[in-house]
Amino acid sequence: MLTRKGMRRYNTACARAARPGAGPGLGWFPVRIDVADIKQEVGSHKLTDLSVTLDSAEFGGAEVRFDRPFTGKAKIWNLGDRLLVQAELQGEVRLTCSRCLREYTQPVSVSFEEEFREGEPGAEGPDEEDGDESVEPVSFYSDDELDVTEVARDHILLALPMKPLCSEACQGLCPRCGKDLNEGPCGCGGAEENVDPRLAVLKDLLRKPDSNS
Ligand SMILES: [Zn+2]
Ligand SMILES: [Zn+2]
Repeated sequence: MLTRKGMRRYNTACARAARPGAGPGLGWFPVRIDVADIKQEVGSHKLTDLSVTLDSAEFGGAEVRFDRPFTGKAKIWNLGDRLLVQAELQGEVRLTCSRCLREYTQPVSVSFEEEFREGEPGAEGPDEEDGDESVEPVSFYSDDELDVTEVARDHILLALPMKPLCSEACQGLCPRCGKDLNEGPCGCGGAEENVDPRLAVLKDLLRKPDSNS
């Protein structure tokens, strides 16, 4: 099962791989939230609009594309030794239907909470590796700025269906000729041949009265 911690390790590996020579348009586009104003007073909070632009990602072996930014709101609380971000984001994701292999648009909404501590990610140290999977990873911020892009990306990817479908009624492709059966029957007979054997038995039973007459 996918966990946020597993996802974080994967993303960190990707970020490391992408960093050398990554120009504009590669990697991710940080969303900076200035927290200098709430940092001084424990219990204070602020509300901010969010617009998170994500680069295409690989998920479940298929490409996931984001045609426009995810938008929403975030509330940031000063909890003393850490900041709590509560965010809601809505957007659309371009996915490939697992049955007919066509691209389609999937609306996605996520809401999440994440704690940020001041400092550098390296402070997490070696217990990142042997850590308990049930413990949520902690995010970090520095220079009075929070970046929620990576956290948002994790939650959006985890909200995607494991078997994307353009519609529940998608007919898929003919296993013999490959025609998109949503456009109509192909006539090659391949679609019928590939019926589940248990159903084929039923079909034979239904045919019997005909052969007797
Ligand atoms: Zn489909
Ligand atoms: Zn066919």
